[in-house]
Amino acid sequence: MGRLRAPSPLNNQSLLHNLCVACADRNEKENAMRHAGSCFCGAVQLQVVGTPEAMGYCHCRSCRSWSGSPVNAFTLWNPEAVRITAGTESIATSQKTPVSQRKYCKKCGGHVMTLHPPFGLVDVFAATLPELAFKPGVHVNYAETVLPMNDGLPKLKDFPVELGGSGEMIAD
Ligand SMILES: [Zn+2]
Ligand SMILES: [Zn+2]
Repeated sequence: MGRLRAPSPLNNQSLLHNLCVACADRNEKENAMRHAGSCFCGAVQLQVVGTPEAMGYCHCRSCRSWSGSPVNAFTLWNPEAVRITAGTESIATSQKTPVSQRKYCKKCGGHVMTLHPPFGLVDVFAATLPELAFKPGVHVNYAETVLPMNDGLPKLKDFPVELGGSGEMIAD
């Protein structure tokens, strides 16, 4: 336990915890690193904590087909960093391949996230997290693009080697 803000005879643990400067700093930091998100109608609410493992764009046909858009803006998280805070009962799953469990809201059809069990990662769609500053770092599956983006970011033909891809790059 860190420095106390004021000398205190209190022996109530939670009060002491609240007075502890180190704990208050940590709580503040954790709150600052918490980002809320939701589905289209708001029935499903979630929270992510910390910083994502990666952010970028996926151009693959599956992402395009499921999202109904030319590209999927992804933010990848460790599963422990993602918490559903409301509406668990409204979440349904579409699973076409073992790589992706796509989660959507049964009430509005809004897409929420995709679990990637083989990678140990969860893609919470950037559009699901309006509070998070989206800073893309990479394009994946760029060989399949229908929307070329000359933004100077690295462009992988498919996936990085760590995720079972070729790791090959495509020129901007
Ligand atoms: Zn919804
Ligand atoms: Zn994709």
